[in-house]
Amino acid sequence: MAGITIAIDGFSSCGKSTLAKALANHLNYIYVDSGAMYRAVTLHLINTGLLKDGHFISKQVINELNRIHIKFQYNRELNRSETYLNGENVEKDIRTMEISRQVSAISAIPEVRAKLVGIQQTMGSEGGVVMDGRDIGTVVFPNADVKLFMTASNDIRAERRYLEMKEKGQDLTLEEVKHSIARRDHLDMNRDISPLRKADDAIELDNSELDEEQQFELALKIINEKVRSLETAKS
Ligand code: C5P
Repeated sequence: MAGITIAIDGFSSCGKSTLAKALANHLNYIYVDSGAMYRAVTLHLINTGLLKDGHFISKQVINELNRIHIKFQYNRELNRSETYLNGENVEKDIRTMEISRQVSAISAIPEVRAKLVGIQQTMGSEGGVVMDGRDIGTVVFPNADVKLFMTASNDIRAERRYLEMKEKGQDLTLEEVKHSIARRDHLDMNRDISPLRKADDAIELDNSELDEEQQFELALKIINEKVRSLETAKS
């Protein structure tokens, strides 16, 4: 059968993309990092001077949207898909603290969401896709075959992100990272449009006590069970 649609949502820094990438590799599915798209829009707005220290004029942002082109391209050497903004590889530039600080304000703009959700739905229209984000199971693919909602304790998430940032040479204290994650979660959960929430039919996966392999095995078990039940229903 053609591949199924797998939606992975959850809070910031709880390992969604690590899991989504591993599943997509294993299943030979497309992986779509929807957060990278919101980050790329934010980067473009900073670069064009339309977003400065969290301040922007909505009308100008909306007018700029048709000049923003985002795509993903697979890098064979690095064995991962990378984000391109208007033809330029921005994979590294979208992962900075500055983007993390400003992205939630931009992702709360309805027109930004409408544009990106449309692209995401097209990318996943054939099935065989793993997409991670905040509204994948609720808005982008409300009929996804498998919906996972990932959580982990605040302290564990902050510690993981802190180590990741340190590895990338970004000089932040654990407290700063903790504060940044909590702020982003708050904004994402409390925006008017498509707030971060668990879809009613999503399976919650708390990975506070799981390593990457254990979380992968658990998710794969859920997916395999779903595929089997779909095949049984068909036959
Ligand atoms: O997943 P990541 O942390 O890269 O996402 C960055 C930001 O993009 C989130 O904090 C959120 O504001 C926004 N986002 C969203 N909807 C998605 C994915 C990300 O609003 N589906």
